[in-house]
Formats: sequence, C-alpha cells, structure tokens
Amino acid sequence: MANQQSTKQVLRGIAASSGIVMGRAYLVHRGRVNILHKTIELPQIAVEIKRFKRAIEKSKHQLQEIKEKILAEEVRRHFFILDVYLMILEDKMLIQDTIEVIKTRMINAEWALDIVIGKLNDAFDTIEDEYLRERKNDVNYVAQRIFRNLVGRGYDDLARIKGNVIVVAQDLSPADTIQMNFNQVAGFVTDIGGRISHTAILSRSLGIPAVVGLETATSLINGGDLLIIDGYGGTVIINPDKETSEEYIKRRKRIRLLEREVLKYAALPAETRDGYRIRVGANIELAEELPLAISHGAEGIGLFRTEILYLNREDLPSEEEQFHTYRKIVEGIAPRSVVIRSLDVGGDKFLSKYGYDHEVNPALGLRAIRFSLKERNLFKIQLRGMLRASAFGKLKILFPMISGIAEIRKAKSILEEVKEELKAEGVAFDEGIEVGAMIEIPSASIIADALANEVDFFSIGTNDLIQYALAIDRINEHVSYLYEPLHPAILRMIRGIVEAGHQAGIEVAICGEMAADPVYILILLGLGLDALSMNPFHIPRVKKILRSSSYEESKQLLEEVFRLSTAREIEDSVKAKMAQRFPDDFTMGYHWDQKG
Ligand code: PEP
Ligand code: MG
Repeated sequence: MANQQSTKQVLRGIAASSGIVMGRAYLVHRGRVNILHKTIELPQIAVEIKRFKRAIEKSKHQLQEIKEKILAEEVRRHFFILDVYLMILEDKMLIQDTIEVIKTRMINAEWALDIVIGKLNDAFDTIEDEYLRERKNDVNYVAQRIFRNLVGRGYDDLARIKGNVIVVAQDLSPADTIQMNFNQVAGFVTDIGGRISHTAILSRSLGIPAVVGLETATSLINGGDLLIIDGYGGTVIINPDKETSEEYIKRRKRIRLLEREVLKYAALPAETRDGYRIRVGANIELAEELPLAISHGAEGIGLFRTEILYLNREDLPSEEEQFHTYRKIVEGIAPRSVVIRSLDVGGDKFLSKYGYDHEVNPALGLRAIRFSLKERNLFKIQLRGMLRASAFGKLKILFPMISGIAEIRKAKSILEEVKEELKAEGVAFDEGIEVGAMIEIPSASIIADALANEVDFFSIGTNDLIQYALAIDRINEHVSYLYEPLHPAILRMIRGIVEAGHQAGIEVAICGEMAADPVYILILLGLGLDALSMNPFHIPRVKKILRSSSYEESKQLLEEVFRLSTAREIEDSVKAKMAQRFPDDFTMGYHWDQKG
C-alpha cells in the first residue's frame, strides 16, 4: 500500500458512458454510519419513535431542498429519482415496520431501521430482474440518509466540487450526481452499479465518461491520484506512466477525429453505391432522446421501448400520460414514422403489483405480449394511448414476443376493440394504423410466411431470437461466449424471415443489437433487410459503411459465408472482409472494443 500514489494500476469495470478522459481523482466519502445497537426501556419507546420520525422529516426536507436548487434543464429531467426517494420516505411499510420493531423488540431507532432494511434487501436479492435489483440501491440510499440524520452526521457539499475532477465513489445516487457542477466533473468512477443504474443513465445523457461496477475503486484510489477513464472499454488506469498517458491522449484524439468525421454521414441517406437503400432508424426509450436520434441522422424511430414508462414508479402510467409521451415522439419525429412497441416486461417485474408468483424461468414465462394479453385492461390503456397519438403523425404499433398466429390475432382483436371504443367516443386516431410483429422466437421465424399475412411489417429482435434459438440466457455471463449472431442457424433464420416477409409484400427490419454493429452491415445488406434500427450513436457509422458498399458485394460475401459451417469461421471471414474493405473503421483498435 505504501507507494500507491505513484504505482500504475489498471481496473476493469463496466463501460457506462463512452469517452476517454484524464483527470485527478476526487473521492466522495459515503462511509456507512456505524449503527449503534441499544435496548431501551418502556418510557424511551416514544422518544425513539419521535427521533425516527424527525429523521424522516429531515431527510424529506433535504431532498426537497436539493430539488429546488437545481435549475439546469438537462438535470431537472432526472428529477423523478428524487421523487422516488421522497416516495420511499412516505412508504408505510418502511415507517410502520420500523416503529413496530422499536416497540416490540424495545430497541433504538437505528437498530430497528437496520433490521427492516435488512429484510427489504433480502427480498430484493431474490429478484432476478436487473432493473428491479437496481432499485434496491434507491432504498439503501434513502436508508443511509435517515441513518445520517438519526446520528446527526451531515453530507459532503457536492456542489462545491471544482477543478475538472474525476469523481470516485462507492456509489453515486442521482441525488448526489445532480448537485454537482457538471462543468467541473470530467468523469465518474464507482464501485457499484451496472449499465442501467441511474448514474450510468445520467452520465450518458450528459455525455460524461463513466466506468461503474469496479468493486475496489474507492479502496485503491487516493484523492488526487491521476486517473484515465476509458469509457469505451470500461477501464480505469490509476497513476498511468508517461507512456500510457501519451498513448491514451493519442487514442482520444484519433477517436474524436473519427467521430467527427463519421458524424458527417448522419444527414446522408443510407444508400449503397449501386443504389440499394436501407432505412436506418433509432431505438429510444425516452422522449428526451429524440434530439440525439435526429442529430445522428435517424430516419424515423424504429423501436420505442415503453418499459421505462412503467418501471420507475409505484403506480401505472395513465392513458393520458402515455398519450402525451407518444404524441411528443410522433410529432417530434414527423414526417418520419415511429414504431411503438407494446409493453415488454417479464412476470417478475410486476410481482408486487400483480401478485404473480416468482417465475423459475422468467425468460420463458409471462413476458411481453403474454403479459399484455393476460392483463387486458393495462394493455387496452396502452393501446388507447397509442391510437390517440396516431392522429398526430405516423405511428406504427409493434407487438413483442409473438410465438404464433393465435397470439397475434388475439392482440389484433383487442386493438380492434379499442378502435371501436374510440370511434364510439368520437376520438380521432389513424384508422389505417400499421401493426407489426417482433420476430424473436424461433417458432415465429419458422412460420414467418403465415405470420406475414397477419401483419404490416416484421421487426426481428435478434437479442431474443439468438437467446431462444441457441438456448443461451442473454444475461448469463457464463454462456455469453455462445451468443453468436453469425451462427449459421441465425443467418438462415434471418434469411427465411426476410424471404417470407417479402413474399407477402411487407417490410422486414432488425431492431436488435446486431443491427448496430458495423461488422454485420454487409451481411445484413446481403440478407435483404429493408430497415435497421439502433442506438442513435451508431447510425452515422452504419450509414458511412452502407454508402461505400455495394449490394452486389454483400451478396457475394453472403454466398461465401453460407458455404462455411461454424460461427467462428463465419466471423473470421466477415471480420477479415470488413477490415480489408473499411480499414479506417475496423483496424484502428477503435471499433472492436467499443461495443454497446
Ligand atoms: C430484441 O430482442 O432484439 C429486442 C430489440 O428487444 P429487447 O432487447 O427489448 O428484448
Ligand atoms: Mg426482445
């Protein structure tokens, strides 16, 4: 430990927000409060309850104050998290249970709260869903604030951070993050957190590089250490030597140049040299991402995932709220179109609200359209919101996880029912609204010819199609090596789906991650996809590659590839071809480590 100040160390974590920065570490101490365990006598019960209630009130007051202080619009958008904290502070279970424990076990407030939080944490640990598990952090953040107020320990004033520093913390709650002056923060590094933790989302939308989930960052980094954050690859270098620093500075320069250069393609059509046109759209999850999608050249929104609307709250989004959100997107992207997907959640995500048992196999359980068909009212509210918004532009509806004809017919018949109701109420909507099916279950791919007669378009969800076809859990790191988009089975499936769609005269798109990876572009072009939809950041590069390709050469590559028998052989052949054809994009060590 002694000589740590000057020893170079490399830590690997999760790349949460891209970019490379160098700066001095600023450690945010959020050391846990030591919780005193004390038994009390009968007359003290009321005193402890009063202390506890006062700490709750104080916590609320502090959070309200933070809310009022923040003026920057891009930060205010993330206010909902402060409201989540305030809601947790109103939670009857948390308050009543703690009071009950004080009374029945005759112990001090800190101890009682610690017991209740411990139980809540245990309950969270049994949840498999990554998003819900993240919410455990919210409860713990609130608990720490109450503990601190119980023992009278204050908080660092993060608003005073200065000097273009890299903030290093065990965890950063959005309440911490949004108090900072972003002009003074060059990057974030945390021990805890995943790609969809709030800090990760916030840093992405602010364009501040971040690496999270490093586990040991706060114990290995000292305040003032020189750090390099590589937000592409997910690495943090502590006290880099001169050579490493120079190498990173060069790399940053090169990436910036490439990014600037590639952004020129944003406004151009995605048309090959021999005149083959593919529509390149954006995948978004928040209306706030629209400007980014447009500035990066999205020719429409190819996938609007609606899950976020439902997940960050205790109640459900009303028809009115959904209508406003959908309308904002439809109008914002006009005259181009937006594909809005109906809710795609697994049964486990609604456990508390809907009382479904925990599923042993949630990926094969009550997910997506299955959930919507079971929770008809919820489904109808969403469809009403979509239909009403369709009166304001070009909106298409997409149903996720369709496994067969009966399911799509059922979904469509509910849509018809909702249309009839709106008509009877005299509410305007687009009567010719297009309806599509996600093809992401192998059964749907096999009967794509029959399904094609039921819908107006297909959107292939390769994330799930690969998971279900190759029988590998997409979030299990132990089998991730088997997640092979270029597996011959996957390529044959995509070919079959496109052929079936085209035979029926409908469009076929891909909206899974495969569409965003420039390595696969020639293959997808050869397979005949009409549209690709992806994270907006990838659009300019995909356009660039398409514009310097020809349909003819993609057909040739595909022919070669179909003669090979393993995913590895295909991958090697495709990578070699891409490196030869597009040396700038694939041989600078830039693309290969930049996924996601
Ligand atoms: C997919 O499965 O490819 C897809 C786009 O949907 P999601 O990742 O939301 O399941
Ligand atoms: Mg999917």
